[in-house]
Order: sequence, then structure tokens, then C-alpha cells
Amino acid sequence: MSGDEATVDVFSIPMNVRFRGIEHREGVLLGGPGGFGEFSPFWDYDVAESTDWLAAAVDAAAREFPEPVRDLVPVNCTVPAVGPVRARAIVIGPHGCRTAKVKVAEPGQTLDDDIARVAAVRDAIGRQGRVRIDANGAWTVPEAILAIKELDAFELEYVEQPVTTVQELADVRRRVDVPVAADESIRRADDPLRVKRLGAADIAVLKVQPLGGVHACLRLTERIGLPVVVSSALETSVGIAAGVALAAALPELPYACGLATTSLLTADVTADPMTPVDGMLSARRVRPDPARVEGVRADEETTRRWLERLDGCRRQLAGRGR
Ligand SMILES: [Mg+2]
Repeated sequence: MSGDEATVDVFSIPMNVRFRGIEHREGVLLGGPGGFGEFSPFWDYDVAESTDWLAAAVDAAAREFPEPVRDLVPVNCTVPAVGPVRARAIVIGPHGCRTAKVKVAEPGQTLDDDIARVAAVRDAIGRQGRVRIDANGAWTVPEAILAIKELDAFELEYVEQPVTTVQELADVRRRVDVPVAADESIRRADDPLRVKRLGAADIAVLKVQPLGGVHACLRLTERIGLPVVVSSALETSVGIAAGVALAAALPELPYACGLATTSLLTADVTADPMTPVDGMLSARRVRPDPARVEGVRADEETTRRWLERLDGCRRQLAGRGR
């Protein structure tokens, strides 16, 4: 665990809320000459897709983060598909965030549920605050157009991934006044630049792990030519630090980033976690504490599965370099 030589630690951390059907966030911390990197692809991703996540961890462990142009990165709080009372409580929490991201279009809920939640969030955050929504691609094009128009009564900053495909995003974008952000359409696409070519989005949401690391994301930012919002993949503070490093190095950062997610985990790998203060995270390296790493160490069976996965991805990554 010195960080000077290669180290591998497998962790399993219970989540405060069930997310993506998982109750534990698992992954691997890799130590190297640059510091520590996190490899934590979700289990529904195959080896090929997970290899980008490994590239990100290897990049963070092997290299310095790019030179920051700002020390502090504004972040948003996230309001899941809860009722208005809980939504309000989340917004006025101790994080100090002036931007809230609200999940909408939850299966089994109605547009009225979304309206009640977004109304409560706008009321709680005040007129100066910013409110964005994320549909995770769950609407059809007509549903999206209707819902966005209704929800914009509460002054939306932007709508993230209202529909699934890049073509649908382009269709919605032409028919609403609210800016459109692409998330899944970039991170799980064979060609992340298609969003740009089709004029499908005003904003690109980038996640460091699925897009191959901080340096790869900086290069993608240049090519995509859109304002970027950096978001997390529910990492520990080690992975979050890479997201903050990207956000800190971007030439422009007009929007708050989705990196205030460590509170979704019941524990962390450091005593000095990436928790927002006054709605900001500071750009810094996070060094895991041996005692904390021990406290969240995965059991033998989980460790075996992760080391096997790590091995498979390492082989793919080595093959790419040839
Ligand atoms: Mg999203």
C-alpha cells in the first residue's frame, strides 16, 4: 500500500440505498508510481467494456493527473425518484450544493410524480439555484417533449438523456428550448462523437472510468467540442478524485459536476473523503488509509472474482497496446 510499487486491494462497501440493483459497491484499488486508481466496473459490463475502466485505473495509478486550472470544482446534489418531502430534505442537506440533479421518468411513476418532485426541489433550492433533470433514456420522443415542457415551468438548467438513441436525442433537442445533455449516448456508444455530428446534445456528460481515464477524457473533450459535465460512477474517494482532476483541468467548466456521490456509500477508503464543502470538491490526490482499506476488504470469494476479472481486462488492455 505504499503507492510506490504496484498494489492491489479489493473492496466491497455496502450502499446506503440500493442502486442499479446492487447493495454493495465493489472494486479494486490499484497503487502505482502516480498514486492510486480505482477499477470498479458494474458486473453487467463484459470484459471488453470493463477494459476501458481498467485503462482509467491504470492511467490514474501510473501517471500524474493533468495540471489543474482551478482548485475547486462545483458539484450537484442528486435527488432520486423520491417523494417531495424527501426531495426537499436532500436539497437542503449539509453539502451546500447550489445545483440539484433530479431523477425523473422512473418506471412505475407518472409525470405528476416528476412535477411534484421537481417543484419541491425548485422551492427548496431557491430562485438562484439550478435544477437539472435526468431521465436515463426512459422517455419516448413525444413523452420527452411533453414532460420537458411541463417541467420547464420550474426553470430547468438542462435535461440529461431524455431518450435512448442519439437520433432520438437530436429529435428532442430540435423541439424543446431546454438544453439537452448526453450521458449514456456517449459513455456506452461505439462512437462518442456521433452525438456531436448529429447535433444531438448541447452538453456532454463524461465519466472517467468508462471513458478510459482522465487523460483520455481530456482528449475526448477537445474532439467533442461541447461543454462537459464530469460525473461519477459511484466510486470511492479514490475514483472520485480522478473525476475532480478531470473537471479541474478542463479549459471551461460552466456547470456543476455530478461527483458528490460518496455519501451513497456507508464507508470509504480514506479518513479524508471527497465530501463537498459549500458545494465544492477540492482537486487533490486521495491516498487510501490501510486501516480503512482493511475495514472494507472483500471476502475471499469476491476477491477471487475481481482478481479474475482484473486479469481478463489486463490481457485485453495489453492486446490493445500491440
Ligand atoms: Mg445520467
